[in-house]
Amino acid sequence: MKKLLIHPEELTKKWVDRMVENDIGILGIHPVGGRQAYLHLANMLEEQKKPEVRALYDYAAEKGLKIEYGIHAAGYLLPRALFAEHPEYFRVDENGERNPDLNFCFSNEEAMELFLENTAKLAKQLYGSSKRYFLWLDDAKDAHCHCPECRKLSPSDQQMTVLNAMVRRLRKDDPEASLAYLAYVTAITPPETVKPEEGIFLEYAPYERKMDRPVSEMPESEIENLKDLLTFFGKENSVVLEYWYDNSLFSGYKKPPKVLVPNNDNVRADLDFYRTLGFEDLSSFACYLGDDYDALYDEIDLTGIAEKNDPLEG
Ligand SMILES: [Zn+2]
Repeated sequence: MKKLLIHPEELTKKWVDRMVENDIGILGIHPVGGRQAYLHLANMLEEQKKPEVRALYDYAAEKGLKIEYGIHAAGYLLPRALFAEHPEYFRVDENGERNPDLNFCFSNEEAMELFLENTAKLAKQLYGSSKRYFLWLDDAKDAHCHCPECRKLSPSDQQMTVLNAMVRRLRKDDPEASLAYLAYVTAITPPETVKPEEGIFLEYAPYERKMDRPVSEMPESEIENLKDLLTFFGKENSVVLEYWYDNSLFSGYKKPPKVLVPNNDNVRADLDFYRTLGFEDLSSFACYLGDDYDALYDEIDLTGIAEKNDPLEG
């Protein structure tokens, strides 16, 4: 299936209709990331208490869309305010200081326990969510813990350890829950020592790829890494998370949005490439394409990803 991820504040009936028209089967909701991701997530949950906001999600479900959430959630799952009383819950940064900026110290048992209970609570709060979760760790290059315990593991192994504990906790409440391993930036290589547990699947997000060339023209080492990821995690439930329509990225994460003219040939070539490797679901960010975009420019051209132009699916 195909999925587009948009910011919750950009969700409109028009976006839902646009997805349906272009045979996108999954509506992805992605609160703004970065250092303040926890505030954006809290804001989304607050908004979702309003009947008129819930009605939009209900409309998407009525139109047959599956709803999934892609969230940089670590800063929310271990509240930053705990730093004053419990600095030991937080990561040791590259300067050797405890720092509440990103993620946490997963070797701290109390921190981990709290993080997992909050994971279970958050999963229940995501309005209309499928059982497939994309609760990503924080969004930065050097975001892992450098304490003597944690640093025994690579960033990918640290992430795998946390995700394994999360999926175990989610499955206590719902045995069908599954959770994405986001292969991205510092954790884009497969873990070396920690194996994925039942319910973990691969989500590949090549943030550092060049957008002006097909992804098949990435350096050979990156293609090998992608194949290694598929071997390590398996192809079942594997998802690509692309940037074809990520107008927040192309706008430098600053409004007003810039105009986006997708390269449809490259999008189709990438779809073929990923499918040939065995990916099941193909998704892209499509942020900064809400009502404010439509007021400035022509509506976004989604023909590159649309199923009806895609003879291999249907
Ligand atoms: Zn640590």
